[in-house]
Amino acid sequence: MAQYPGRHAIVVGGGIIGLAIAWEAARRGHRITLVDPDPAGGATHAAAGMLAPVSELHYREEHLLDLTLASAQLYPDFVDRLTAAAGQPVGYQQTGTMVAAVDAADRQSLSDLHQAQTRLGLQSERLTTRSARRMEPMLGPQLTGAFLASADHQVDPRAMAAALQTALAGRPDYHRLTARATGVLSMGGCVTGVRLEDGTTVTADEVVLANGLSAAGMDGLPDGLSLPLRPVYGDILRLNVPQALRPLLTRTVRAVVCGRQVYVVPRADGTVVIGATQRENGSAGVSAGGVYELLRDAQTVIPAVAELELQETICRPRPGTADNAPLLGRCRGQDGQDVAGLLLATGFFRHGVLLAPLAARLCAELIDGAKPFMDVERYRPDRFVEEGAL
Ligand SMILES: Cc1cc2nc3c(=O)[nH]c(=O)nc-3n(C[C@H](O)[C@H](O)[C@H](O)COP(=O)(O)OP(=O)(O)OC[C@H]3O[C@@H](n4cnc5c(N)ncnc54)[C@H](O)[C@@H]3O)c2cc1C
Repeated sequence: MAQYPGRHAIVVGGGIIGLAIAWEAARRGHRITLVDPDPAGGATHAAAGMLAPVSELHYREEHLLDLTLASAQLYPDFVDRLTAAAGQPVGYQQTGTMVAAVDAADRQSLSDLHQAQTRLGLQSERLTTRSARRMEPMLGPQLTGAFLASADHQVDPRAMAAALQTALAGRPDYHRLTARATGVLSMGGCVTGVRLEDGTTVTADEVVLANGLSAAGMDGLPDGLSLPLRPVYGDILRLNVPQALRPLLTRTVRAVVCGRQVYVVPRADGTVVIGATQRENGSAGVSAGGVYELLRDAQTVIPAVAELELQETICRPRPGTADNAPLLGRCRGQDGQDVAGLLLATGFFRHGVLLAPLAARLCAELIDGAKPFMDVERYRPDRFVEEGAL
């Protein structure tokens, strides 16, 4: 690997995105200071870890495919390097994802999705209900259709975040501050560091804001730059599968149940993750109604869900944006030029785990001063700013 003259980068936020960027930049010879009061405690702690560019395809989000497919391709190599560096597993499983429908309307919506996927050249294989049941014998009788997205995989986000922290902790060029950053420091139009909540400052050549929703509230952002981040809360459950019912599933099963989405992700340790609601009602606590609906819908698809042991219910906000795409890269200052020393990597919404290797590589290349391996101009953090506002 090429060695770059080590620069000093502060990464604000140690979720899956900030940790991945910190590790990739450190590997390239840069000195890293990670600032986070509670690393991996945000959306990363809740995420199911589906790496699902195909089955997560949503209408009017086709533009995201260039990012999601590129990051899915980066995953195997990223995971190999990370597991070797950290010496611990990250729960990466390439077992594919089955998508199932329950009633006639669900079957139609699945069929529409399958057609859209095929039109876009994505790998999506229609299954008969009989073959779906052969593959996953725990599926219940209420099944009207299914398809298989073999290229949709999974990772365990908690294990991956832990591995990234282990890999970083072993590096002499890495330093972690258990602190909250309140703003960025600037001089002559360039960002030169961050201010912490105790009033102290840390200077660096480059500041990467990877602190999810709170990036929008940082002091000292370029005048006129507003980051349209909004919290989309997700309730999600973890359950233990009793020995007699293992394996409950051999791959992730997503389903449309009377128009609602639910997924069941099997982990190697015998547990499953059932998720997830999408709420924009501003309520950060776990929703009783959300838990009820998830369990009811999961049980409709896999009746044995009723016999599992509930281990955890949790809710975290996904950092959403106006077009559901991330805010990634540099942004313009008032002179119309990119602000030197500032990078943003936030707004990853439903795909932050999937997009972590891509965000890591892009940001590390920008810290290197190199041309990024792919064009991400359309994901610029300042794309929502009206002409002339900056
Ligand atoms: C229920 C649920 C299920 C999901 N499932 C999936 C999935 O299957 N696949 C997928 O790809 N994505 C999934 N996601 C989305 C994914 O979790 C997010 O996109 C991803 O975690 C975003 O990562 P992040 O590092 O940007 O944010 P976070 O993980 O939220 O990390 C932000 C970090 O910044 C820190 N921070 C905040 N403010 C400051 C500050 N001022 N100073 C310093 N540090 C600060 C926080 O402590 C936190 O550690 C899911 C999300 C939810 C909620």
